[in-house]
Amino acid sequence: MNPSYGSSLVKVSEAQFQKAVIELAHRFNWRVAHFKTAQTSKGAWVTPVAADGAGFPDLCLVRERIVFIELKAEKGTMSDNQLAWGDALRVAGVEYHCFKPRDWDEIERVLLTPRREHLRRITELGQEIENQRGAAA
Ligand SMILES: [Mg+2]
Repeated sequence: MNPSYGSSLVKVSEAQFQKAVIELAHRFNWRVAHFKTAQTSKGAWVTPVAADGAGFPDLCLVRERIVFIELKAEKGTMSDNQLAWGDALRVAGVEYHCFKPRDWDEIERVLLTPRREHLRRITELGQEIENQRGAAA
């Protein structure tokens, strides 16, 4: 699947998109964790989590670094819990992304990013967070 095509982009479901991202990650030698949803007796689809688990990112990728990814269908929006997890992970210096099918080129770039460039970016982000904390104090 190559989700980078015009008007049919909106028709790609999050499940199809996720399958394509996992395939791409495996091609680039990432180890991928995803926690499947389960259907309740009332028919709702939920991910069985406890504590603050609601909104936890869809994918955790590990190679020479750790990357958390929240996936959304083209018209999908982030829940408050998903936003909170994104903020918490970024503040902790962890690489976190939210991607839609239209971001396919960026996904390829992120999954191909070699360690050296990643270390440079994480250093810049750490400096940004330090500066923000300094400004807020
Ligand atoms: Mg998602």
